[in-house]
Amino acid sequence: MHVCRTEKTNINRGLITARTLLTGADGFDVQVITRDRSPGGQWAKERIYPGLQLNNVHGEFRFSARETVSAPEGSTGDTLLPGKIMFETKILKISRGDTSGEPSCNISVKNCKTGRLDILRFYRVVLCTGGTSKARIPDYLSSTVAQKANFSQPIIHSADFGNRLEDILNIIPPSSSEISRSIVIIGGGKSAQDISAYLANQGREVTVVYERTGPSIAGARPLPDFMRKSRLLSILSPYISLRTRLDKFVRETWNSIMADSFKAMGIREDSPLRLTFSLFWNVQTNDEGVPRPNGFHALVNEGKINVIAPARMTGYAGDGHSILLNNGPSVKADLLILATGYASSWTDIFDEKTAADIGLYRHQLVNYKSLRDPPPLQPENTKWSSSIYKAILATNDGYSFEVTAHWISSYFLGDKMNLPRNADEALKHAEREAMWLFKRHPDLNLSLNEACTSYSTFWTWPQYSDELLEDMYLQSMRSGGNWFTWPFQVISINELATLHEEREANRRKNV
Ligand SMILES: Cc1cc2nc3c(=O)[nH]c(=O)nc-3n(C[C@H](O)[C@H](O)[C@H](O)COP(=O)(O)OP(=O)(O)OC[C@H]3O[C@@H](n4cnc5c(N)ncnc54)[C@H](O)[C@@H]3O)c2cc1C
Repeated sequence: MHVCRTEKTNINRGLITARTLLTGADGFDVQVITRDRSPGGQWAKERIYPGLQLNNVHGEFRFSARETVSAPEGSTGDTLLPGKIMFETKILKISRGDTSGEPSCNISVKNCKTGRLDILRFYRVVLCTGGTSKARIPDYLSSTVAQKANFSQPIIHSADFGNRLEDILNIIPPSSSEISRSIVIIGGGKSAQDISAYLANQGREVTVVYERTGPSIAGARPLPDFMRKSRLLSILSPYISLRTRLDKFVRETWNSIMADSFKAMGIREDSPLRLTFSLFWNVQTNDEGVPRPNGFHALVNEGKINVIAPARMTGYAGDGHSILLNNGPSVKADLLILATGYASSWTDIFDEKTAADIGLYRHQLVNYKSLRDPPPLQPENTKWSSSIYKAILATNDGYSFEVTAHWISSYFLGDKMNLPRNADEALKHAEREAMWLFKRHPDLNLSLNEACTSYSTFWTWPQYSDELLEDMYLQSMRSGGNWFTWPFQVISINELATLHEEREANRRKNV
């Protein structure tokens, strides 16, 4: 199997960033604040659940110096960042501190156990609150609306699936000829896929309702590392500097990857699994690898997961146990799981003025003509924030997390870097990238947070990481090779193990 789906990880951006800022000559006095009880964010012990798969292109969520920071099972955050993590502390608001002298930020926090409120003051803040840490439940599906409609069955958001799993399995027994209690899952994204597959494998009756399901790529055989763990896929992917003819070539390439993936997963022409986003226009893709016999697609193919698609849940029927769909009859749900995605974790923590001040306001972008026949823009995608220079957020994998952490550290330290000369130049750069992204990926999930609106990478994380390395005057394309072989060189996170020393050497040379 070439996807590292079973890799245990409890490493996330906050931990990698903190560790990088703390280490060696960077030497910041770092404090990590999290509302969680254990480290790892999405991958913390309390959040993961059986069936949750890591689907990264390279399957890697690591740190280059893994042996020093890997968290053996059962370890506490103190193993990773001794005494540096303030657990169970929720950030309520961040505002600028006294603007005279050294800039600072005031952070209002609440102790989740005692309810005690405090204001902490820091000179620098790195936001690593994640794009998938705040459940999004559309108003018309809220529990208040459900109560008003007398819907009396349990409703759980997919974000709580891990800690409610036992309840769910107790409430809904395995289906048999005598008992038929069904779980309905709303959404077609990765959470809906993983959760429905897990529950179906536990013998539960599951129905998934979606308009479109998240695309997956798959192959009958594992791709060799020189293809999947190199820059090859990333250079085939759309990037801001591509020209139109190349785009056309790329579009066709992705369409054929999609067709091959459907074939590898045995998806029939008339299957609802074909109702998916295009790989060409969409940024995120599930990397299925070699299809699993007990995975989502196989279970749908075999009729072990019911699918109602294309359909959208519009509300609750008044009979106490059914949900309404936009097309078709109401559906009985003995337990409802809303895999309706995630909202921005930033909205609550900045007041309007601070958000505007630091550039997190959304506005209409000028139309930017580039490619023909894009899919229609989602209604919620018409306003973009475009003021975050390089939106140092982008993609999810250990490599780019670590490079980004060094970039941030260099920036804080005032190292010589290849940066815009002034704020106007930075804004222009950000606006240009936002416009490109806006046109190139109209399906982008902007609810995650504002950073997604100005820069987002998925397959193209190697280009992105290379750019950041070059900003620090460090060697990019570190996997080596010559002019012909570089796209096929396997990228390893260990290439980054000496970044601290390299940056320090640059500092000494005053590069
Ligand atoms: C079900 C699921 C599956 C996923 N699968 C993949 C995958 O296969 N591959 C992949 O690359 N990505 C995946 N993701 C995306 C996931 O966001 C990333 O894997 C990764 O966790 C991102 O790291 P992060 O540090 O940015 O965010 P997170 O790991 O979400 O960490 C954010 C942290 O900030 C804390 N926080 C947020 N707001 C506050 C606040 N106000 N106060 C205090 N603390 C706060 C959170 O509690 C959390 O500890 C998945 C997400 C979900 C939900």
